[in-house]
Amino acid sequence: MSEISGEHGQPGEVSLNPHEGVVAGGSTIGAARTGSGPADRRVLILGGTSEARALAGSLSQSGIAVISSLAGRTSTPLLPAGEVRIGGFGGAPGLAAYLEAERIDVLVDATHPFAAVISDNAGAAAAVTGVPLIVLRRPGWSEQAGDVWHRVRELGEAAALLPRLGHRVFLTTGRQGIGEFASVDAWFLARSVEPPEPPMPARLEVVLDRGPFTLEGERRLLTRHRIDVLVTKDSGGPDAKLIAARERHIPVIMVNRPATAPSARTVSTVAEAARLIAP
Ligand code: NAP
Repeated sequence: MSEISGEHGQPGEVSLNPHEGVVAGGSTIGAARTGSGPADRRVLILGGTSEARALAGSLSQSGIAVISSLAGRTSTPLLPAGEVRIGGFGGAPGLAAYLEAERIDVLVDATHPFAAVISDNAGAAAAVTGVPLIVLRRPGWSEQAGDVWHRVRELGEAAALLPRLGHRVFLTTGRQGIGEFASVDAWFLARSVEPPEPPMPARLEVVLDRGPFTLEGERRLLTRHRIDVLVTKDSGGPDAKLIAARERHIPVIMVNRPATAPSARTVSTVAEAARLIAP
């Protein structure tokens, strides 16, 4: 099981002690299996995000053995550097078995902030095996002057609120939750990487695209389709669509992030995660 001690470093500092594992904020979290230097560590990154790809690239360049894991949701995924495996593990027990079989020293949960199931599984598998867990989570967005935001807890709440705010909707919540909007009487422009599947709204245009998106491109989309309300998840990261909505005083329904287990060491940048693993 993970051991926590407060004997190393200053509060707020992060570094890695090759003999004692990951040292974070003055605490040692677990211990590396191999007991040798950072270059011998085996790291499993739960991915599907640009941050996960960037971390895999950074660690690979440092000579660290990285395995990136993708869920297999998209048919043409952007592949990170290093080894890649695709598909589920079979819940937390399956992930724990994989950590043992592959002799993983550090587990990084760099999945999307709304991928709550795999994040819970990562926490459970790390607790059972004692493998140190680092959560890499980009910060969420915050409202700025000129924004007209309505925060909701989940997609169903967004669907219920929509008719009061507009009738030409730009929906950027991904294809998986589109069914929540199937019975809303409005026109939808939905953007996703893969085509959505029924149930879907009756009046729907789909734009298949993958970010990051430019501000000029977002302005054009909003104008061309006469968008009067935007629905998005609080994913964080590039925010061109939010700037474009602000400029036009378009209301935004912002779906809050699901709660995550507070136990793991959480960092918000690729550089911080890389420093923890390979200082
Ligand atoms: P989820 O609901 O949290 O996970 C559902 C199941 O999918 C998990 O129990 C796991 O199956 C498998 N899975 C998820 N991520 C995996 C990974 N990185 N490697 C291996 N198996 C994984 O996940 P989701 O919301 O469907 O997201 C799936 C993937 O898409 C994630 O990797 C995430 O980073 C990426 N993504 C999600 C969103 C979003 O809005 N949710 C947006 C952009 C990208 P087993 O239980 O069998 O292990």
